[in-house]
Amino acid sequence: MLLFFVDGLGLGPDDAEINPVVAARTPCLEGLLGRKMTAPSDVIKNDGALLVPTDATLGIDGLPQSATGQTALLTGINAPKAVGRHITAYPTIALKEILTERNIFRQVKEIGGRVALANAYTPEYFEAVDAGRLRHAAVTFSALSAGVTLRGLDDLREGRAVFHDLTNARPRSWGHDLPEITPEEAGRNLAAIAAQHHLTVFEFFLTDLAAHGRVPMDPVTVVEMIDRCLSGVLEAGNWGEMLLVFVSDHGNLEDRRSDVHTRNPVPTLLVGEGRDEVGDQIAAITDVTPSVVHWLAGRTAQ
Ligand SMILES: [Zn+2]
Repeated sequence: MLLFFVDGLGLGPDDAEINPVVAARTPCLEGLLGRKMTAPSDVIKNDGALLVPTDATLGIDGLPQSATGQTALLTGINAPKAVGRHITAYPTIALKEILTERNIFRQVKEIGGRVALANAYTPEYFEAVDAGRLRHAAVTFSALSAGVTLRGLDDLREGRAVFHDLTNARPRSWGHDLPEITPEEAGRNLAAIAAQHHLTVFEFFLTDLAAHGRVPMDPVTVVEMIDRCLSGVLEAGNWGEMLLVFVSDHGNLEDRRSDVHTRNPVPTLLVGEGRDEVGDQIAAITDVTPSVVHWLAGRTAQ
């Protein structure tokens, strides 16, 4: 299965002025859902997909944040409740303990599954971490703590990894000799990696950066990149046997009226084999990992 994690994408209003998801051209999502990916009143069950509006606030006041949200998503533990508040950006010591013990890579390995993190990392990333200029976010930390090998630029050149911007435009602008690829090709590469593992995780966070104004990208463009990537994922994967779970940690991009996070529900979008079995167990972001691991438990012998 492919866990496609998108940072900071909630289900917002059906208003193109407010919600870049509505303003964007999203033929793939609309083909799956029969409508734009905005806040539905209830679960949408369509021929193509299941969309579960998913709570990211977890009973804690204030705006949900990345460190606690991602920890909740990746472990099934109510991390903001455990630490008493929503915590931004990078996991704290307490959150790292939760991630180390319960992260989804570790849980799937424990039931005999093959796991992968599809993202590619540059040598400069590791240098920055070693120098203390950068810290691992929850997904990277979880993969490392579970003994998952991180993919590098050689993997990226061979199509065995995907950069977080999908097209390689960012690492090319940093001077790396890489081909520029389309979001569709990135999606096809993701599907190929997913076909070789029980669990493949991919992390995309330009959504959150664009919504915060930290990269010079229009949120509408970012949504269109995701839609194009998903079309490649769907084209290349065998979704009669594979499961796609597309999910976020908190809202942000879906409301242009502010540049901070929202308390909106986030999408859990499920496509393929097992979508109802997994999706029916999901109401909050803490339900994603337990439901996925339970579903994979019957399949890791294959
Ligand atoms: Zn986030």
